[in-house]
Amino acid sequence: MTNYLTPKSKYRRKPKLKLCDCGCGGYPRGADFMPGHDVRIYSALVGHVGSLRNLKEVVERYTGKPVNMKYD
Ligand SMILES: [Zn+2]
Repeated sequence: MTNYLTPKSKYRRKPKLKLCDCGCGGYPRGADFMPGHDVRIYSALVGHVGSLRNLKEVVERYTGKPVNMKYD
């Protein structure tokens, strides 16, 4: 059986290029987003549900547990 998920050995040294999750088309190195682009997702999420309070509620409903804000 062929394992399609395991990269061939010659490709192992280079981390696979992955597109920035914001959709800008950039390739962040070792991260999900280009520097500063995580804010775009944050803004889009808050805008999508209307407010940060709504986002917290959506997350709590989805996960079934309260969002705890810890201040160290
Ligand atoms: Zn981006």
